[in-house]
Amino acid sequence: MRIINKSKLPNSKIREIVNFVKPSGIKNFDIIITNTSTGWHYGCARRNQVLIRLSDKEKFPFIHDCGKPYLPILLLTEDESLIQIFAHELRHVYQHQHGNKRLRNKIKIGKKVGKETDADVYAIRKVREWRRRQPQPIISLNSLNELMS
Ligand SMILES: [Zn+2]
Repeated sequence: MRIINKSKLPNSKIREIVNFVKPSGIKNFDIIITNTSTGWHYGCARRNQVLIRLSDKEKFPFIHDCGKPYLPILLLTEDESLIQIFAHELRHVYQHQHGNKRLRNKIKIGKKVGKETDADVYAIRKVREWRRRQPQPIISLNSLNELMS
């Protein structure tokens, strides 16, 4: 695993996130991280290489929803947003290295089984796992109500 960090985020933070989300059984991959001036994090994965562009303009909480085939996800903090994007993209590396047959998270949309959906299911699980580990509730009921209204 090689991490090439050209973003503003410290290496220690990147390592913490990557160690938390990395699917077991993937190896020999590169992650390149840069900043973006757009409002959203951006990621793409090609074979064993992942590119992630980080925005510092995301506002929390928000519901990350790119429409089909992606799944909507509630993100409460910057950390959760990082977990989401890194988990999603690293799941693509897992898909590449292990092939479709071994994907456990596959769910059907219509008749199609999607790699994007599989990656999102994995990312959602990781975000929830991260959230459960936090010692304090990280959002007030009021701000959650505001978000839902
Ligand atoms: Zn994807």
